[in-house]
Amino acid sequence: MSGREHDLGEIRDAVAKLCATFPMEYWRETDRERRYPTEFVRALTEAGWLSCLIPEEYGGAGLPLTAAAAVLEEIQRSGANGAACHAQMYVMGTLLRHGSPAQKEKYLPKIAKGELRLQAFGVTEPTAGTDTSSIRTTAVRKGERYVVNGQKVWTSRAEHSDLMLLLARTAPRSEAKRTAGLSVFIVDMKTALGRGLAIRPIRTMINHATTEVFFDNLEVPTENLLGEEGKGFRYILDGMNAERILIGAECVGDARWFIAKATAYAGERRVFGRPIGQNQGVQFPIARAYMATEAAALMVERAAALYESGQPCGKEANMAKQLAAEASWQAGDMCLQTHGGFGFAEEYDIERKFRETRLYQIAPISTNLVLCYLAEHVLGLPRSY
Ligand SMILES: Cc1cc2nc3c(=O)[nH]c(=O)nc-3n(C[C@H](O)[C@H](O)[C@H](O)COP(=O)(O)OP(=O)(O)OC[C@H]3O[C@@H](n4cnc5c(N)ncnc54)[C@H](O)[C@@H]3O)c2cc1C
Repeated sequence: MSGREHDLGEIRDAVAKLCATFPMEYWRETDRERRYPTEFVRALTEAGWLSCLIPEEYGGAGLPLTAAAAVLEEIQRSGANGAACHAQMYVMGTLLRHGSPAQKEKYLPKIAKGELRLQAFGVTEPTAGTDTSSIRTTAVRKGERYVVNGQKVWTSRAEHSDLMLLLARTAPRSEAKRTAGLSVFIVDMKTALGRGLAIRPIRTMINHATTEVFFDNLEVPTENLLGEEGKGFRYILDGMNAERILIGAECVGDARWFIAKATAYAGERRVFGRPIGQNQGVQFPIARAYMATEAAALMVERAAALYESGQPCGKEANMAKQLAAEASWQAGDMCLQTHGGFGFAEEYDIERKFRETRLYQIAPISTNLVLCYLAEHVLGLPRSY
C-alpha cells in the first residue's frame, strides 16, 4: 500500500488478522517467561508494518503517523503487547527528519527489509531522571571518532535491537541554556557489544525487555552523529512528540480491549439470576470508560494530524498521551472489577494487560511532568521544576 492511498480501515483489518495468528496463550507464555516475542516481531516486520513510516524510496510504505498509530492501536486492541517493537515507529521520525542522505541510504533500506532493527532509544539515566538536560553520558570527539562514557537506564529492547539512538553530552551543561550541548548518535550495538558497550537486563513487572546500558570508552564514528553537534535535544523532541502520540494510540487500543472484554463478560455472567451487566453499578463504569476512551482517541487523532502536517503539536501530543493513559487505566480497573475474582486469573489476560498499561502513566513521560508542561507552556504559570 502506498502512502498516498492508505486506508486506515484496511490497515486495521490486516493488522488484526496478523495479530489473530498469535493466540493469547502466546502472550501469556512470553509474559510468564519474560521472553522477547521474536516470532511476533518477525511477522510484523515481514508484513511491512514496522517500516510503514519509511519513505517508499527507501523500501518502506511511506505511510503517515496516523497509519502507524492505527497499527499500534490494533496490536493493543487484539490483546497483544506492541511494546516489544513500537520504538522503531517513533525513533524513525528523528532519523527521517534529521539524518543525512548518507545515513538514510545506509540504514533505512535495511530496516525496511528487516535486516536491521532500530528499537533502542537511550535517553534516561539513573541520576538525571526526567531532567534530561542533566544527563552525564559524554561523547568526546577524538579525530574521526567520538568516545562515549556513561550509563543509561531503562533502555528497552537493547538486547533485541541492532541500532540505538543515543543522546549524550558533547558540551558541558550551562545554566543559561540547559538543553544545548546534547547530541544524538546512531550506535551500531552489535559491533559495540563487548567493545565498550555492556547491557544488563532489568526484570520488571511486565515483559518489556528493558535494560541498563554501560558505555566505557565506546568509539562511535563521527559519521554516526545525527544532524549537528549540540542540537540533539531539539531532534529528540520531535521523536518524543511522535512517541507520545503513538503511545496514546496504544493506550486507546488497550482501553478498547478492556471495554470489549468487560462488556462481553457483563452480558454473559449471571449472578442473582440475571446478567451482571443488567445492574447499573456494573454498566456505568463501562460506559464511563468508553466515554473517556473516545475522548482520548479524538485527542490522539488531532495530535497525529498536526504532527503529520508539520505543525507544532507538543500540547496535543502530551494531552493525547496523558488522556489515553488515564483512559486505559480506568478501563483496566473497570475490567478487573467487572470480572470479580476471575479477573485475577492469568487465563483471562486482564491482569497482564492491567500491568502492561500501567506503564504509560510513567513512561515515556510521567503524569506530573505532562501537567508541569501544560501549566508552564500552555497556561503561562511559573515554571515549577
Ligand atoms: C518499563 C520502562 C521502559 C522504559 N523505556 C525507556 C526507553 O526505552 N528509553 C528511555 O530513554 N527511557 C525509558 N524509560 C524511562 C522513562 O521514560 C522514565 O522512567 C520516566 O520518564 C520517568 O523518569 P524517572 O523514572 O527517572 O522518574 P523521576 O524523574 O525520578 O521521577 C519520579 C517521580 O517524581 C515525579 N517528579 C519528578 N520531578 C517532578 C517535578 N518537578 N514535579 C512533579 N513531579 C515530579 C515524577 O512525575 C515521577 O512520578 C522506561 C521506563 C520504564 C519503567
